Amino acid sequence: MAKYIFVTGGVVSGLGKGITAASLGKLLRLRGYRVSVQKIDPYLNIDPGTMSPYEHGEVFVTDDGAETDLDIGHYERFLDINCSRKSGITTGQIYSKIFAKERRGDYLGHTVQIVPHVTNEIKNYMREIGEGQDIVIIEIGGTVGDIEQSVYIEAIRQFRRELGIGNSVAVHVTLIPYIASSGEIKTKPTQNSVKDLQQLGVFADVLVCRTTAGIELDQEHRDKIAMFCGLDNQEDVIHNRDCRTIYEVPLMFAKQKFDQIVLKKLNLKLNKCDLSEWQKIVDKLCDDHLPEVTVALVGKYVAVADAYISVTEALKHAGIVNNVRTKVKLVQAENLERDGAEPWLSDVQAILVPGGFGNRGVEGKIAAIKYARENNIPFLGICLGMQTAVIEFARNVCGLRDANSTEFVDKLKYPVIDIIEDQKDITTKGGTMRLGLYDCALKPNTLAAKLYGKSTIKERHRHRYEFNNQYRTQLEQAGMVFSGINPQANLVEIIELPSHPFFIACQCHPELLSRPNRPHPLFKGLIAAAVQK
Ligand code: GLN
Repeated sequence: MAKYIFVTGGVVSGLGKGITAASLGKLLRLRGYRVSVQKIDPYLNIDPGTMSPYEHGEVFVTDDGAETDLDIGHYERFLDINCSRKSGITTGQIYSKIFAKERRGDYLGHTVQIVPHVTNEIKNYMREIGEGQDIVIIEIGGTVGDIEQSVYIEAIRQFRRELGIGNSVAVHVTLIPYIASSGEIKTKPTQNSVKDLQQLGVFADVLVCRTTAGIELDQEHRDKIAMFCGLDNQEDVIHNRDCRTIYEVPLMFAKQKFDQIVLKKLNLKLNKCDLSEWQKIVDKLCDDHLPEVTVALVGKYVAVADAYISVTEALKHAGIVNNVRTKVKLVQAENLERDGAEPWLSDVQAILVPGGFGNRGVEGKIAAIKYARENNIPFLGICLGMQTAVIEFARNVCGLRDANSTEFVDKLKYPVIDIIEDQKDITTKGGTMRLGLYDCALKPNTLAAKLYGKSTIKERHRHRYEFNNQYRTQLEQAGMVFSGINPQANLVEIIELPSHPFFIACQCHPELLSRPNRPHPLFKGLIAAAVQK
Protein backbone atom coordinates (compact mmCIF):
# COMPACT_ATOMS: atom_id res chain seq x y z
CA MET A 1 0.00 0.00 0.00
CA ALA A 2 1.36 3.41 -0.96
CA LYS A 3 2.12 6.05 1.65
CA TYR A 4 0.60 9.50 1.20
CA ILE A 5 1.81 13.07 1.38
CA PHE A 6 -0.91 15.73 1.34
CA VAL A 7 0.10 19.23 0.32
CA THR A 8 -2.19 22.15 1.19
CA GLY A 9 -1.64 25.89 1.06
CA GLY A 10 -2.48 28.70 3.41
CA VAL A 11 -2.45 32.49 3.90
CA VAL A 12 -2.42 33.38 0.19
CA SER A 13 -2.53 31.53 -3.11
CA GLY A 14 0.38 31.42 -5.52
CA LEU A 15 3.02 30.30 -3.00
CA GLY A 16 4.35 27.59 -5.25
CA LYS A 17 2.57 24.56 -3.80
CA GLY A 18 3.05 22.83 -7.13
CA ILE A 19 6.79 23.47 -7.17
CA THR A 20 6.98 22.39 -3.52
CA ALA A 21 5.18 19.13 -4.28
CA ALA A 22 7.26 18.54 -7.41
CA SER A 23 10.54 19.29 -5.62
CA LEU A 24 9.76 16.95 -2.74
CA GLY A 25 8.70 14.33 -5.27
CA LYS A 26 11.98 14.78 -7.12
CA LEU A 27 14.00 14.12 -3.95
CA LEU A 28 11.95 11.03 -3.12
CA ARG A 29 12.38 9.72 -6.69
CA LEU A 30 16.13 10.26 -6.40
CA ARG A 31 16.02 8.08 -3.30
CA GLY A 32 14.65 5.29 -5.43
CA TYR A 33 10.95 5.45 -4.61
CA ARG A 34 8.13 5.06 -7.09
CA VAL A 35 6.28 8.33 -6.71
CA SER A 36 3.05 9.47 -8.32
CA VAL A 37 1.43 12.84 -8.04
CA GLN A 38 -2.14 14.10 -8.10
CA LYS A 39 -3.45 17.64 -8.23
CA ILE A 40 -7.03 18.21 -7.16
CA ASP A 41 -8.56 21.50 -8.24
CA PRO A 42 -11.68 22.53 -6.35
CA TYR A 43 -13.48 24.19 -9.27
CA LEU A 44 -16.58 22.95 -11.05
CA ASN A 45 -15.16 22.80 -14.57
CA ILE A 46 -14.53 19.22 -15.65
CA ASP A 47 -11.02 20.25 -16.66
CA PRO A 48 -9.22 23.51 -17.51
CA GLY A 49 -9.61 22.76 -21.25
CA THR A 50 -12.39 25.29 -21.76
CA MET A 51 -10.84 27.99 -19.54
CA SER A 52 -8.97 30.99 -20.83
CA PRO A 53 -5.22 31.07 -20.17
CA TYR A 54 -5.95 34.39 -18.46
CA GLU A 55 -7.91 32.50 -15.82
CA HIS A 56 -5.86 29.39 -15.56
CA GLY A 57 -2.52 29.68 -17.32
CA GLU A 58 -1.47 26.91 -19.66
CA VAL A 59 -3.46 23.72 -20.15
CA PHE A 60 -1.12 20.75 -19.81
CA VAL A 61 -2.00 17.66 -21.88
CA THR A 62 -1.01 14.16 -20.76
CA ASP A 63 -0.13 11.15 -22.95
CA ASP A 64 -3.66 9.79 -22.55
CA GLY A 65 -5.18 13.08 -23.71
CA ALA A 66 -6.34 14.68 -20.46
CA GLU A 67 -6.38 18.46 -20.34
CA THR A 68 -4.95 19.23 -16.93
CA ASP A 69 -3.58 21.91 -14.64
CA LEU A 70 -0.15 23.33 -15.43
CA ASP A 71 1.22 21.89 -12.18
CA ILE A 72 1.09 18.47 -13.86
CA GLY A 73 3.74 19.87 -16.19
CA HIS A 74 5.97 20.73 -13.22
CA TYR A 75 5.53 17.19 -11.86
CA GLU A 76 6.54 15.66 -15.19
CA ARG A 77 9.54 17.94 -15.58
CA PHE A 78 10.79 17.54 -12.02
CA LEU A 79 10.05 13.87 -11.43
CA ASP A 80 10.75 12.83 -15.02
CA ILE A 81 7.57 10.74 -15.12
CA ASN A 82 4.63 10.66 -17.53
CA CYS A 83 1.40 11.46 -15.71
CA SER A 84 -2.04 10.31 -16.80
CA ARG A 85 -5.55 11.67 -16.44
CA LYS A 86 -5.57 10.26 -12.91
CA SER A 87 -3.16 13.03 -11.95
CA GLY A 88 -5.58 15.87 -12.68
CA ILE A 89 -8.87 15.78 -10.77
CA THR A 90 -11.47 18.52 -10.36
CA THR A 91 -14.65 18.96 -8.33
CA GLY A 92 -16.46 19.00 -11.69
CA GLN A 93 -15.25 15.46 -12.47
CA ILE A 94 -16.14 14.15 -9.04
CA TYR A 95 -19.65 15.60 -9.10
CA SER A 96 -20.40 14.49 -12.65
CA LYS A 97 -19.36 10.96 -11.71
CA ILE A 98 -21.68 11.07 -8.70
CA PHE A 99 -24.57 12.49 -10.75
CA ALA A 100 -24.15 9.71 -13.32
CA LYS A 101 -24.18 7.11 -10.55
CA GLU A 102 -27.26 8.69 -8.98
CA ARG A 103 -29.19 8.58 -12.27
CA ARG A 104 -28.12 4.99 -12.84
CA GLY A 105 -29.60 4.11 -9.47
CA ASP A 106 -26.38 3.19 -7.72
CA TYR A 107 -27.52 4.97 -4.56
CA LEU A 108 -31.11 3.76 -4.84
CA GLY A 109 -33.05 4.49 -1.67
CA HIS A 110 -30.39 6.78 -0.19
CA THR A 111 -29.92 10.52 0.07
CA VAL A 112 -26.74 11.47 -1.79
CA GLN A 113 -24.64 13.74 0.45
CA ILE A 114 -21.32 15.56 0.57
CA VAL A 115 -20.32 13.26 3.43
CA PRO A 116 -20.02 10.36 2.78
CA HIS A 117 -20.67 10.22 -0.99
CA VAL A 118 -18.47 13.04 -2.21
CA THR A 119 -15.71 12.35 0.32
CA ASN A 120 -15.81 8.64 -0.59
CA GLU A 121 -15.43 9.47 -4.26
CA ILE A 122 -12.48 11.76 -3.47
CA LYS A 123 -10.83 8.99 -1.45
CA ASN A 124 -11.39 6.57 -4.34
CA TYR A 125 -9.47 8.89 -6.67
CA MET A 126 -6.70 9.20 -4.08
CA ARG A 127 -6.51 5.41 -3.66
CA GLU A 128 -6.54 4.77 -7.40
CA ILE A 129 -3.46 6.89 -8.09
CA GLY A 130 -1.60 4.96 -5.37
CA GLU A 131 -1.80 1.60 -7.17
CA GLY A 132 1.68 0.24 -7.80
CA GLN A 133 3.39 3.22 -6.15
CA ASP A 134 5.47 3.62 -2.99
CA ILE A 135 4.54 7.21 -2.32
CA VAL A 136 1.74 9.46 -3.58
CA ILE A 137 1.85 13.22 -3.32
CA ILE A 138 -1.57 14.86 -3.40
CA GLU A 139 -1.74 18.59 -3.89
CA ILE A 140 -5.00 20.34 -3.11
CA GLY A 141 -5.55 23.51 -5.14
CA GLY A 142 -6.76 26.71 -3.48
CA THR A 143 -6.15 28.01 0.03
CA VAL A 144 -7.27 26.58 3.37
CA GLY A 145 -10.43 28.40 4.38
CA ASP A 146 -11.93 28.40 0.88
CA ILE A 147 -15.47 27.04 0.95
CA GLU A 148 -14.91 24.82 -2.07
CA GLN A 149 -11.76 23.32 -0.59
CA SER A 150 -13.17 22.20 2.76
CA VAL A 151 -14.62 18.94 1.41
CA TYR A 152 -11.12 17.87 0.36
CA ILE A 153 -9.70 18.64 3.78
CA GLU A 154 -12.47 16.49 5.25
CA ALA A 155 -11.58 13.69 2.80
CA ILE A 156 -7.93 13.97 3.84
CA ARG A 157 -8.93 13.82 7.50
CA GLN A 158 -10.89 10.60 6.92
CA PHE A 159 -8.27 9.08 4.65
CA ARG A 160 -5.39 9.75 7.06
CA ARG A 161 -7.35 7.98 9.79
CA GLU A 162 -7.88 4.98 7.49
CA LEU A 163 -4.22 4.94 6.46
CA GLY A 164 -3.12 4.79 10.11
CA ILE A 165 -0.24 6.36 11.98
CA GLY A 166 3.06 6.53 10.10
CA ASN A 167 1.49 6.18 6.66
CA SER A 168 0.77 9.77 5.75
CA VAL A 169 2.26 13.21 6.15
CA ALA A 170 0.47 16.56 5.91
CA VAL A 171 2.58 19.34 4.45
CA HIS A 172 1.22 22.87 4.69
CA VAL A 173 2.70 25.65 2.53
CA THR A 174 2.38 29.16 3.96
CA LEU A 175 3.71 32.68 3.64
CA ILE A 176 5.97 34.46 6.12
CA PRO A 177 5.64 38.14 5.29
CA TYR A 178 8.43 40.64 5.89
CA ILE A 179 7.52 44.07 7.23
CA ALA A 180 10.15 46.33 5.75
CA SER A 181 9.56 49.36 8.00
CA SER A 182 10.19 47.37 11.19
CA GLY A 183 12.61 44.91 9.58
CA GLU A 184 10.65 41.95 10.98
CA ILE A 185 9.19 38.77 9.62
CA LYS A 186 5.77 37.76 10.87
CA THR A 187 4.68 34.23 11.76
CA LYS A 188 1.11 34.99 12.83
CA PRO A 189 -0.56 34.38 9.42
CA THR A 190 1.12 30.95 9.37
CA GLN A 191 -0.07 30.16 12.88
CA ASN A 192 -3.62 31.16 11.94
CA SER A 193 -3.58 29.12 8.78
CA VAL A 194 -2.38 26.02 10.64
CA LYS A 195 -5.20 26.55 13.15
CA ASP A 196 -7.76 26.82 10.32
CA LEU A 197 -6.51 23.48 9.07
CA GLN A 198 -6.62 21.97 12.57
CA GLN A 199 -10.22 23.09 12.98
CA LEU A 200 -11.03 20.95 9.96
CA GLY A 201 -9.29 18.02 11.60
CA VAL A 202 -5.98 17.96 9.72
CA PHE A 203 -2.80 18.49 11.72
CA ALA A 204 0.17 19.68 9.69
CA ASP A 205 3.36 17.64 10.18
CA VAL A 206 5.67 19.82 8.13
CA LEU A 207 5.40 23.51 7.27
CA VAL A 208 6.96 24.96 4.16
CA CYS A 209 7.34 28.68 4.81
CA ARG A 210 7.75 30.91 1.79
CA THR A 211 9.66 34.16 2.09
CA THR A 212 11.18 36.56 -0.38
CA ALA A 213 14.87 36.16 -1.22
CA GLY A 214 17.39 37.47 1.31
CA ILE A 215 15.23 36.68 4.34
CA GLU A 216 16.62 34.35 7.02
CA LEU A 217 14.48 32.03 9.08
CA ASP A 218 16.62 31.59 12.20
CA GLN A 219 16.34 29.02 15.01
CA GLU A 220 14.28 31.35 17.13
CA HIS A 221 11.66 31.76 14.40
CA ARG A 222 11.66 28.06 13.61
CA ASP A 223 11.18 27.23 17.31
CA LYS A 224 8.37 29.69 17.60
CA ILE A 225 6.59 28.38 14.50
CA ALA A 226 7.07 24.75 15.57
CA MET A 227 5.78 25.48 19.08
CA PHE A 228 2.69 27.45 18.06
CA CYS A 229 1.83 25.16 15.16
CA GLY A 230 2.19 21.92 17.10
CA LEU A 231 5.05 20.43 15.07
CA ASP A 232 7.27 17.66 16.48
CA ASN A 233 10.35 19.86 16.33
CA GLN A 234 11.82 22.87 14.63
CA GLU A 235 13.38 20.87 11.76
CA ASP A 236 9.83 20.36 10.54
CA VAL A 237 9.82 24.00 9.51
CA ILE A 238 11.22 24.17 5.99
CA HIS A 239 12.26 27.52 4.61
CA ASN A 240 11.15 28.09 1.03
CA ARG A 241 13.00 31.18 -0.10
CA ASP A 242 12.61 32.68 -3.60
CA CYS A 243 15.23 30.96 -5.74
CA ARG A 244 17.14 31.96 -8.86
CA THR A 245 15.34 29.23 -10.79
CA ILE A 246 12.52 26.87 -9.82
CA TYR A 247 14.92 23.97 -10.44
CA GLU A 248 16.94 25.13 -7.44
CA VAL A 249 14.07 24.40 -5.04
CA PRO A 250 14.81 20.64 -4.66
CA LEU A 251 18.43 21.51 -3.77
CA MET A 252 17.28 24.06 -1.18
CA PHE A 253 14.92 21.45 0.29
CA ALA A 254 17.60 18.74 0.32
CA LYS A 255 19.88 20.99 2.40
CA GLN A 256 17.13 21.21 5.02
CA LYS A 257 16.57 17.42 4.83
CA PHE A 258 12.92 17.86 3.81
CA ASP A 259 12.87 14.45 2.11
CA GLN A 260 14.54 12.71 5.06
CA ILE A 261 12.12 14.26 7.54
CA VAL A 262 9.17 13.07 5.46
CA LEU A 263 10.62 9.57 4.96
CA LYS A 264 11.18 9.21 8.71
CA LYS A 265 7.61 10.20 9.43
CA LEU A 266 6.49 7.60 6.89
CA ASN A 267 8.78 4.94 8.39
CA LEU A 268 10.56 4.51 5.05
CA LYS A 269 14.26 3.88 4.46
CA LEU A 270 16.55 6.80 3.69
CA ASN A 271 18.12 5.33 0.55
CA LYS A 272 21.03 7.23 -0.95
CA CYS A 273 20.25 10.32 -2.98
CA ASP A 274 22.48 11.53 -5.82
CA LEU A 275 21.81 15.16 -6.64
CA SER A 276 24.77 15.67 -8.96
CA GLU A 277 22.87 15.62 -12.29
CA TRP A 278 20.30 18.08 -10.96
CA GLN A 279 23.00 20.28 -9.46
CA LYS A 280 24.66 20.51 -12.90
CA ILE A 281 21.36 21.60 -14.45
CA VAL A 282 20.94 24.34 -11.85
CA ASP A 283 24.58 25.46 -12.20
CA LYS A 284 24.10 25.86 -15.94
CA LEU A 285 20.82 27.73 -15.57
CA CYS A 286 22.38 30.14 -13.09
CA ASP A 287 25.75 30.62 -14.80
CA ASP A 288 25.93 34.33 -15.62
CA HIS A 289 29.07 33.80 -17.71
CA LEU A 290 27.24 31.77 -20.35
CA PRO A 291 26.32 33.72 -23.46
CA GLU A 292 22.69 34.71 -23.82
CA VAL A 293 20.38 33.84 -26.70
CA THR A 294 17.12 35.74 -27.10
CA VAL A 295 14.07 33.97 -28.47
CA ALA A 296 10.95 35.95 -29.30
CA LEU A 297 7.77 34.18 -28.27
CA VAL A 298 5.07 35.81 -30.35
CA GLY A 299 1.76 35.01 -28.73
CA LYS A 300 -1.59 36.27 -27.66
CA TYR A 301 -1.57 35.63 -23.90
CA VAL A 302 1.87 37.10 -23.18
CA ALA A 303 0.44 39.22 -20.34
CA VAL A 304 0.13 36.03 -18.22
CA ALA A 305 3.51 34.51 -17.48
CA ASP A 306 1.97 31.06 -16.88
CA ALA A 307 0.17 30.89 -20.23
CA TYR A 308 3.23 29.52 -22.06
CA ILE A 309 5.05 27.93 -19.13
CA SER A 310 5.93 24.63 -20.82
CA VAL A 311 7.25 26.50 -23.87
CA THR A 312 9.44 28.83 -21.83
CA GLU A 313 10.71 25.91 -19.71
CA ALA A 314 11.49 23.87 -22.84
CA LEU A 315 13.49 26.82 -24.20
CA LYS A 316 15.48 26.94 -20.95
CA HIS A 317 16.13 23.19 -21.10
CA ALA A 318 17.43 23.59 -24.65
CA GLY A 319 19.76 26.35 -23.46
CA ILE A 320 21.38 23.97 -20.95
CA VAL A 321 22.63 21.49 -23.60
CA ASN A 322 23.69 24.29 -25.91
CA ASN A 323 25.70 26.00 -23.16
CA VAL A 324 23.78 29.24 -23.38
CA ARG A 325 21.18 30.98 -21.29
CA THR A 326 17.89 31.36 -23.11
CA LYS A 327 16.16 34.66 -22.66
CA VAL A 328 12.54 34.64 -23.73
CA LYS A 329 11.22 37.90 -25.12
CA LEU A 330 7.44 37.79 -24.84
CA VAL A 331 5.97 39.69 -27.78
CA GLN A 332 2.29 40.57 -28.03
CA ALA A 333 1.26 39.40 -31.50
CA GLU A 334 -1.13 42.31 -32.01
CA ASN A 335 1.76 44.76 -31.69
CA LEU A 336 3.13 43.42 -34.97
CA GLU A 337 -0.17 44.14 -36.67
CA ARG A 338 0.21 47.76 -35.62
CA ASP A 339 3.97 48.33 -35.99
CA GLY A 340 5.16 45.62 -38.37
CA ALA A 341 7.60 42.87 -37.35
CA GLU A 342 10.93 44.70 -37.56
CA PRO A 343 10.65 46.89 -34.41
CA TRP A 344 9.79 43.87 -32.28
CA LEU A 345 11.99 41.19 -33.77
CA SER A 346 15.16 42.80 -35.07
CA ASP A 347 17.06 42.08 -31.82
CA VAL A 348 16.28 38.35 -31.43
CA GLN A 349 18.20 35.25 -32.52
CA ALA A 350 15.15 33.01 -32.93
CA ILE A 351 11.39 33.28 -33.26
CA LEU A 352 8.79 30.94 -31.83
CA VAL A 353 5.06 31.08 -32.50
CA PRO A 354 3.24 28.92 -29.94
CA GLY A 355 -0.22 27.36 -29.90
CA GLY A 356 -3.38 29.38 -29.55
CA PHE A 357 -7.06 29.65 -30.25
CA GLY A 358 -9.17 32.28 -31.97
CA ASN A 359 -8.57 35.11 -34.36
CA ARG A 360 -6.93 37.73 -32.14
CA GLY A 361 -3.28 38.31 -32.97
CA VAL A 362 -3.22 35.84 -35.87
CA GLU A 363 -2.15 38.42 -38.46
CA GLY A 364 0.67 39.50 -36.11
CA LYS A 365 1.87 35.92 -35.87
CA ILE A 366 1.80 35.64 -39.66
CA ALA A 367 3.88 38.84 -39.85
CA ALA A 368 6.42 37.34 -37.42
CA ILE A 369 6.68 34.17 -39.51
CA LYS A 370 7.15 36.13 -42.73
CA TYR A 371 9.91 38.10 -41.02
CA ALA A 372 11.61 34.88 -39.83
CA ARG A 373 11.32 33.27 -43.26
CA GLU A 374 12.58 36.24 -45.23
CA ASN A 375 15.41 37.12 -42.86
CA ASN A 376 16.70 33.58 -42.27
CA ILE A 377 15.93 33.76 -38.55
CA PRO A 378 15.59 30.32 -36.90
CA PHE A 379 11.89 29.59 -36.49
CA LEU A 380 9.83 27.05 -34.60
CA GLY A 381 6.05 27.00 -34.96
CA ILE A 382 3.88 25.03 -32.57
CA CYS A 383 0.30 23.96 -33.36
CA LEU A 384 -1.35 27.27 -34.31
CA GLY A 385 2.25 28.30 -35.02
CA MET A 386 2.40 25.61 -37.72
CA GLN A 387 -1.02 26.53 -39.04
CA THR A 388 -0.05 30.19 -39.36
CA ALA A 389 3.25 29.19 -41.02
CA VAL A 390 1.22 27.30 -43.63
CA ILE A 391 -1.08 30.30 -44.13
CA GLU A 392 1.90 32.63 -44.50
CA PHE A 393 3.57 30.37 -47.05
CA ALA A 394 0.35 29.84 -49.00
CA ARG A 395 -0.29 33.58 -49.19
CA ASN A 396 3.19 34.98 -49.74
CA VAL A 397 4.99 32.21 -51.61
CA CYS A 398 2.20 30.38 -53.45
CA GLY A 399 0.17 33.52 -54.13
CA LEU A 400 -3.05 32.18 -52.57
CA ARG A 401 -4.04 35.65 -51.47
CA ASP A 402 -6.77 35.07 -48.90
CA ALA A 403 -5.47 31.71 -47.61
CA ASN A 404 -6.56 31.20 -44.03
CA SER A 405 -7.96 28.74 -41.50
CA THR A 406 -11.67 28.04 -41.30
CA GLU A 407 -11.26 28.62 -37.56
CA PHE A 408 -11.08 32.33 -38.34
CA VAL A 409 -13.13 32.81 -41.53
CA ASP A 410 -16.14 30.68 -42.49
CA LYS A 411 -16.26 30.93 -46.26
CA LEU A 412 -12.78 30.82 -47.73
CA LYS A 413 -11.40 30.53 -51.22
CA TYR A 414 -8.24 28.83 -49.91
CA PRO A 415 -8.97 26.99 -46.64
CA VAL A 416 -5.41 25.71 -46.17
CA ILE A 417 -6.23 24.85 -42.55
CA ASP A 418 -9.59 23.18 -41.96
CA ILE A 419 -11.54 20.80 -39.76
CA ILE A 420 -11.35 17.23 -41.03
CA GLU A 421 -14.58 15.73 -42.33
CA ASP A 422 -15.51 13.42 -39.44
CA GLN A 423 -15.05 16.27 -36.92
CA LYS A 424 -17.27 18.74 -38.74
CA ASP A 425 -20.55 18.14 -36.90
CA ILE A 426 -19.05 18.15 -33.42
CA THR A 427 -20.65 21.08 -31.66
CA THR A 428 -19.45 20.40 -28.09
CA LYS A 429 -16.40 22.40 -27.09
CA GLY A 430 -14.96 20.56 -24.06
CA GLY A 431 -12.59 17.62 -24.59
CA THR A 432 -13.41 17.11 -28.28
CA MET A 433 -10.09 18.03 -29.89
CA ARG A 434 -7.34 15.73 -31.13
CA LEU A 435 -5.84 15.17 -27.68
CA GLY A 436 -2.90 13.19 -26.36
CA LEU A 437 -0.24 11.04 -28.02
CA TYR A 438 -0.33 10.41 -31.78
CA ASP A 439 2.13 8.67 -34.07
CA CYS A 440 4.19 10.54 -36.61
CA ALA A 441 6.36 9.05 -39.33
CA LEU A 442 9.33 11.18 -40.33
CA LYS A 443 10.50 11.56 -43.90
CA PRO A 444 14.15 10.48 -44.25
CA ASN A 445 16.83 13.13 -44.80
CA THR A 446 14.73 15.99 -43.50
CA LEU A 447 15.53 18.43 -40.70
CA ALA A 448 12.90 16.71 -38.55
CA ALA A 449 14.47 13.27 -39.08
CA LYS A 450 17.91 14.69 -38.31
CA LEU A 451 16.77 16.45 -35.13
CA TYR A 452 14.82 13.51 -33.74
CA GLY A 453 17.38 10.96 -34.92
CA LYS A 454 14.68 8.35 -35.61
CA SER A 455 12.00 7.54 -38.15
CA THR A 456 8.87 7.38 -36.00
CA ILE A 457 7.90 9.48 -33.02
CA LYS A 458 4.95 10.06 -30.74
CA GLU A 459 3.94 13.56 -29.69
CA ARG A 460 1.10 15.08 -27.69
CA HIS A 461 -1.65 17.04 -29.40
CA ARG A 462 -4.36 19.56 -28.55
CA HIS A 463 -6.13 21.06 -31.54
CA ARG A 464 -9.23 20.82 -33.68
CA TYR A 465 -7.98 22.05 -37.07
CA GLU A 466 -5.54 20.34 -39.46
CA PHE A 467 -3.52 21.03 -42.57
CA ASN A 468 -5.84 20.68 -45.57
CA ASN A 469 -4.30 17.92 -47.71
CA GLN A 470 -5.80 19.40 -50.91
CA TYR A 471 -2.96 21.94 -50.82
CA ARG A 472 -0.12 19.53 -50.19
CA THR A 473 1.13 19.24 -53.78
CA GLN A 474 0.91 22.94 -54.45
CA LEU A 475 2.86 23.91 -51.33
CA GLU A 476 5.36 21.12 -51.89
CA GLN A 477 6.05 22.38 -55.41
CA ALA A 478 6.73 25.82 -53.92
CA GLY A 479 9.38 24.39 -51.58
CA MET A 480 7.62 23.32 -48.37
CA VAL A 481 8.52 19.84 -47.15
CA PHE A 482 6.00 17.75 -45.25
CA SER A 483 8.46 15.93 -43.07
CA GLY A 484 6.13 14.41 -40.49
CA ILE A 485 2.89 12.59 -41.29
CA ASN A 486 0.45 10.77 -39.05
CA PRO A 487 0.35 7.36 -40.78
CA GLN A 488 -3.10 6.30 -39.56
CA ALA A 489 -5.03 9.36 -40.76
CA ASN A 490 -2.56 10.84 -43.27
CA LEU A 491 -2.46 14.14 -41.37
CA VAL A 492 0.39 16.62 -41.71
CA GLU A 493 2.33 16.77 -38.45
CA ILE A 494 5.55 18.59 -39.34
CA ILE A 495 6.47 21.06 -42.07
CA GLU A 496 9.83 22.60 -42.90
CA LEU A 497 11.58 24.81 -45.44
CA PRO A 498 14.91 23.34 -46.61
CA SER A 499 15.83 26.65 -48.28
CA HIS A 500 15.99 28.28 -44.84
CA PRO A 501 18.70 27.62 -42.17
CA PHE A 502 16.12 26.49 -39.59
CA PHE A 503 12.42 26.72 -40.31
CA ILE A 504 10.29 23.98 -38.82
CA ALA A 505 6.79 23.80 -37.40
CA CYS A 506 4.70 21.03 -35.92
CA GLN A 507 1.02 20.37 -35.28
CA CYS A 508 1.84 18.73 -31.93
CA HIS A 509 2.99 20.30 -28.67
CA PRO A 510 6.64 19.26 -28.25
CA GLU A 511 7.05 21.56 -25.24
CA LEU A 512 5.01 19.08 -23.20
CA LEU A 513 7.66 16.39 -23.49
CA SER A 514 10.75 18.47 -22.72
CA ARG A 515 12.60 17.76 -19.48
CA PRO A 516 15.52 19.67 -17.94
CA ASN A 517 17.68 16.56 -18.26
CA ARG A 518 16.26 15.62 -21.69
CA PRO A 519 15.53 18.72 -23.75
CA HIS A 520 13.20 18.22 -26.69
CA PRO A 521 14.97 17.80 -30.06
CA LEU A 522 13.02 20.60 -31.78
CA PHE A 523 13.85 23.10 -29.02
CA LYS A 524 17.42 21.89 -28.85
CA GLY A 525 17.70 22.41 -32.61
CA LEU A 526 16.13 25.86 -32.46
CA ILE A 527 18.58 27.07 -29.82
CA ALA A 528 21.53 25.47 -31.63
CA ALA A 529 20.50 27.33 -34.79
CA ALA A 530 20.08 30.56 -32.79
CA VAL A 531 23.59 30.14 -31.39
CA GLN A 532 24.96 29.82 -34.92
CA LYS A 533 23.07 32.92 -35.93
N1 GLN B 1 -6.72 26.72 -32.74
C1 GLN B 1 -6.01 25.70 -33.45
C2 GLN B 1 -6.80 24.42 -33.53
O1 GLN B 1 -7.72 24.21 -32.80
C3 GLN B 1 -4.65 25.45 -32.83
C4 GLN B 1 -4.73 24.91 -31.44
C5 GLN B 1 -3.42 25.02 -30.69
O2 GLN B 1 -2.55 25.77 -31.06
N2 GLN B 1 -3.30 24.29 -29.61
O3 GLN B 1 -6.51 23.58 -34.34
